[in-house]
Amino acid sequence: MTTTNGYLLKGRIIDGTLNPPVENGALVIEGERIAWLGAARDLPPLYADRRLEVIDLPGRTLMPGLVDGHTHISFGEARSEEENALYTPVEFRTAKALYYAKKVLQAGVTSAFDAATTYNIAQAVRDAIDTGMFEGPRFAVSGKQLTNHQGLEDSFPNEMPFPVGQSAVLVKTREDLVEQIRFQVKDEIDAIKVSGSNDNLITPDALGSSAFTLEEFRIIAEETHRLGKLCSVHARSREAALWSAQAGFDNLFHASYIDDEGIEACLKNHCVITPTLTLLVNLVEAKQGNAGASGAAAFRAEIEAASVNLRRAYEAGVPLIAGSESGWSPVPYGQWHAREMELFVDLLGLTPLQAIHANTLAATRLLHRFGHEVGKLEAGRLADVLVVPGNPLDDIRLLQRPKSFDYIFKGGRPVDRTPPPPRQRKWYERTKIFLNGLYEYDETSGSGRLVQ
Ligand SMILES: [Zn+2]
Repeated sequence: MTTTNGYLLKGRIIDGTLNPPVENGALVIEGERIAWLGAARDLPPLYADRRLEVIDLPGRTLMPGLVDGHTHISFGEARSEEENALYTPVEFRTAKALYYAKKVLQAGVTSAFDAATTYNIAQAVRDAIDTGMFEGPRFAVSGKQLTNHQGLEDSFPNEMPFPVGQSAVLVKTREDLVEQIRFQVKDEIDAIKVSGSNDNLITPDALGSSAFTLEEFRIIAEETHRLGKLCSVHARSREAALWSAQAGFDNLFHASYIDDEGIEACLKNHCVITPTLTLLVNLVEAKQGNAGASGAAAFRAEIEAASVNLRRAYEAGVPLIAGSESGWSPVPYGQWHAREMELFVDLLGLTPLQAIHANTLAATRLLHRFGHEVGKLEAGRLADVLVVPGNPLDDIRLLQRPKSFDYIFKGGRPVDRTPPPPRQRKWYERTKIFLNGLYEYDETSGSGRLVQ
């Protein structure tokens, strides 16, 4: 292992704010933090004596490590609700999550907000990384989503018990809402996440209304904030977005059908929105040409609505945060973390600089414990820095090629870029389908054929 006194990086500096970039910039890393940055010509002479390792590659951009506003590190690239809720032992899920965390870091994601876990895996992954045992992003994590019979994750028939492996907990009374928040805070979550509405993936009437009442959202927000935690909600429908914003939730996920009243409530209560359009767009793309696929039209309609409504929200002043939804099979780990920026530009009309801000400094609003330490290139902050060939302000898609990055620094150290070995799936990591279709007997030919 090489030892160094620190690094002197040179290149165009995009600092994570909305300030214009500094061309011909320089940035000094000492220990785990940024010691200095600015125009290269202003570099204080004292750094010349420090024998820093100089990284000066032509045409490079220096920018903060990405802050992914929505991951599910415990979901293991599940292909179905059943796979996520029912199958795979918790011990194996945890091992997988640690394996995948490294891939997320190698995509340039140095911090992330985990938006619901199965079991308490997200806390364990966060702590295993924080304590230096495994490599991965710095995580702030939600617990299991608080849901009820109309919320996302209560997906199975009433005749069976609510699965313990589900990434939610079924809450039946208002007293139990408060009890569950206190229970999860004791389990050291960073944020409470609520299933405020259902989801097109699960039920066709997903977007009709809200799972919880305004009064219930208020109970949740009040107790969560009393205990000093962030309050976030899965809110695809108009009512769920409106009522959670009126109740003072900090962050609304999706908010595809938010209207002017909801936008007004967000502005009044300083709520941010994390859309995760990447999941919807990936689903539509992946399902194209897949004859057995259902739901593509519904996803397309939601993308269209979100494109209009979220653009209005952003233009009105509601901050947007970029999150990828990595963890489900449409969004495998380590691959799509920077796509949301492209979609913010193409679908919502943000500039590339605004999109980068949404995936760096703006996203630190979800990271209560350490948000002030990351997300921005600034002297004193942790040196989570990407060295990127080219200028992402000219082509935001450059950030979707993390293998081309010259360096990913986390806490002042270059991240090991060796990809983890490919892994095989265990037999229990799947929905147990005997055969995807009917093997029908054809009397004329006397043989069988598979009908989907
Ligand atoms: Zn999610």
